Amino acid sequence: MDPSPLTATLVVSGRVQGVGFRWWTRRRLEELGLAGTATNLPDGTVEIRVSGAARDVDRLLTVLRGGATPGHVTDVRLVTAGRPDAAEGTNDDDAPPDELVVHDVVVVGGGPAGLSAALVLGRSRRSVVVVDDGRPRNAAADHVHGLLGHEGTRPLDLLARGQEEVGRYGVRLVTATATEVLAAPGGPVAVRLSDGSTLRARRVLVTSGMRDELPEVPGMAERWGRDVLHCPYCHGWEHRDERLVVVATHAGEVDKALTVRQWSQHVTLVLHRFTGATVDDAVLQRLAATGVGVVRGTIGELLVREDRLVGLRLADGRTLACDAVVVQPRLVARDDLLTGAGVALEAGPFGEYVRTDARGATDVPGVWAAGNVTEPQAQVVTAAADGTRAAIAIDHDLVLEEADRAVAAASRERGD
Ligand SMILES: Cc1cc2nc3c(=O)[nH]c(=O)nc-3n(C[C@H](O)[C@H](O)[C@H](O)COP(=O)(O)OP(=O)(O)OC[C@H]3O[C@@H](n4cnc5c(N)ncnc54)[C@H](O)[C@@H]3O)c2cc1C
Repeated sequence: MDPSPLTATLVVSGRVQGVGFRWWTRRRLEELGLAGTATNLPDGTVEIRVSGAARDVDRLLTVLRGGATPGHVTDVRLVTAGRPDAAEGTNDDDAPPDELVVHDVVVVGGGPAGLSAALVLGRSRRSVVVVDDGRPRNAAADHVHGLLGHEGTRPLDLLARGQEEVGRYGVRLVTATATEVLAAPGGPVAVRLSDGSTLRARRVLVTSGMRDELPEVPGMAERWGRDVLHCPYCHGWEHRDERLVVVATHAGEVDKALTVRQWSQHVTLVLHRFTGATVDDAVLQRLAATGVGVVRGTIGELLVREDRLVGLRLADGRTLACDAVVVQPRLVARDDLLTGAGVALEAGPFGEYVRTDARGATDVPGVWAAGNVTEPQAQVVTAAADGTRAAIAIDHDLVLEEADRAVAAASRERGD
């Protein structure tokens, strides 16, 4: 926290006029060593103008939002804040500094899950910040498929449209990497950013996605998203009737060849650096009966001509002509922020994933997660749905918290 002096204007809403609130506020200002005034405004709110150390202004905000005030406080807004020696009236000076603002929700990750959540929360009149560092999982692909109403849109165009849409509802977009999520019981959750700043929010939703780790084959990473694919449902149509190679490194990936057969009669399964038991007899029979060839051997390199995949060479020198390769990458959740905050992992079919309930709440209070970071099989549409579901649940969680605070304030007022 910056110890330098600050002047700030706060507006407190609720039943706060004529209930000793201004007297109580002046006492708090004295205790905190802040200079300031509290004034009743014609709209029923109380305006508090203060100056003092930023740390103490922050404490005042915490006390006002803590629910132990006289009357019934429904909202405390930091309207302006700035350095007292700065020129008045500039935008920068009027905007409350981030270290003092407690947003309703900070969303980490501006992909389909994060932007969908931000859209719902922004439209629910929540103050929302989305932090994103611009590494969407499907960036390597030319087009998004299987997305009703947006079939064939470019991935970055879809995100740009989403950013514009959330902007209409006051959602703020910050380009940065979130480096740490710090949750404290009963307090706001802090999100540290790569630029050294900290955002604070009543709830944090992590939608940081995952990354795909490809088998180590020379040339494979360069063709990723073009003619090296992972999901026939996303890009199989574009490669229908072509010569397709499905790469399996263990028995669990062999079935994919049967699935891919749906798109082409020319499918070869390559058992690449195959580990574990041999392929089940029943599976081999299915492959043979549906015309899928099986080759065992290590892929040495992909063969590319005029920027098109034309085949692959095995380490023993054999070559196999093909137009596209389907692989199963290792799916690695970008969950460092969540595990760093203490969220537990649980075993799933694709490895360990952070544990959330059906709404997206983790076991760390205030910290939520949605999209590929928790569900490796989520497509764009299902990641977006996941974000929407989490957003509605978060909003409801905030609504209940606010209602409980109102109940406590009413009870105090009655002297219960
Ligand atoms: C090559 C390829 C093609 C695909 N094609 C399709 C398709 O055609 N149709 C389909 O439905 N699905 C497709 N998918 C799947 C699709 O990419 C995912 O379903 C979708 O991206 C999941 O959305 P998400 O919001 O969970 O994560 P992402 O889209 O990955 O978004 C996560 C965002 O969080 C940001 N981020 C991560 N960590 C941090 C941090 N610490 N601080 C700040 N920001 C952070 C990232 O930069 C990223 O922008 C494809 C996937 C791949 C790999």
